[in-house]
Amino acid sequence: MTAKASVYDLAGDLVIYRNLDAAEPRLPRFVDAWDQMGLPGPARPRKLDPAYSQALAWILRRARALDAPGTELAELVYLGDTALNDGNAFRNVRAASGWRGWAFIGAERDEELAVSEKDGVFVANRWSALSEFVSWLRSSQAAALDARTAVIVDVDKTALGARGRNDNAIDRARVVALEATVAGALGAIFDPGTFRRAYAELNAPRYHTFTMDNQDNLAYVCMMVGANLWTLDDLLADLAAGRLVRTQDLMERVQAQRDRLPGPALLALHDDIYARASDGDPTPFKAFRQREYLETVKRLGQLPDSAPFGQRLVEEICMTREVLDVVRWFRARGCLLLAVSDKPDEAAFPTAELAREGYLPLHCIPTHIAGQSIAALLPEGS
Ligand SMILES: [Mg+2]
Repeated sequence: MTAKASVYDLAGDLVIYRNLDAAEPRLPRFVDAWDQMGLPGPARPRKLDPAYSQALAWILRRARALDAPGTELAELVYLGDTALNDGNAFRNVRAASGWRGWAFIGAERDEELAVSEKDGVFVANRWSALSEFVSWLRSSQAAALDARTAVIVDVDKTALGARGRNDNAIDRARVVALEATVAGALGAIFDPGTFRRAYAELNAPRYHTFTMDNQDNLAYVCMMVGANLWTLDDLLADLAAGRLVRTQDLMERVQAQRDRLPGPALLALHDDIYARASDGDPTPFKAFRQREYLETVKRLGQLPDSAPFGQRLVEEICMTREVLDVVRWFRARGCLLLAVSDKPDEAAFPTAELAREGYLPLHCIPTHIAGQSIAALLPEGS
């Protein structure tokens, strides 16, 4: 299996990253459209916020009008990998749009096949169960699945790096980038053991209130632990005692004693992150995210065609064969495809300098396809 495909092959330029600007140039930027979307202000909502889904529904209608004017969307299909994030985003888009809708939440698990369905959300422990999902939509839900249908496909760990099979490759790109960025900023005082202990501890969901589940914040905190302003234990004690609640509190602490920061490089980095975070930028650690972009590019389609399958699933972020097959089937029926990713722009697009060297946005980079073909299992004709 040596064929390659990109997210562009799934959805063209109808790709939305975290900032809610479609890559499709004929669609307006979020900053020019938030009021038309009915949002209260220009702050970009996150995926769990109902405002995010309101924006998606608006974008889908506009996108449909570009290539099929006069066709009103009436159905929603959502393909994702997390019951919480994708499930909620799906329910929110369905509520915001008023369309009928169904979601598929997939993962590959080494256990007996199990599928379940509740309130339109179909959960399966095999990606190949997408074929059953489609049969169920047609037979028991009487879904039209045509030009009136919007299909949202989640990118991270769904279309690319299938959860349960190939998702570690995505995490690996981020962790390698985070560690390399922190190591670069700390120079000679960087201690990998200290960094990894801090990262492993603070990456846990119980610290999401502190980190806002934001890897930029996590990277900053790990960097400051590595800078020896406090030990990890001091920090955990302050968190437990409520003396520290948000990452911003820690940034203020550092700001109050920035003269103690070892080295001009770290000081400059703190100043930059502090200014951006104070300004409300949700991804203030630009160096880390740009490194994440490069580490992700390194893992897209870079192994030779002859690489063993096991190695490919560890070292490469692959296109999910089952998702590719079902998306092609939806597209052949005239459905509108939108790909969504939670990556910030800095982790998804090359810098201007890299773009001049030929680097592409992540969704335009072909990678090897991995998984089981379900094309023959999908219904033929209409
Ligand atoms: Mg995902």
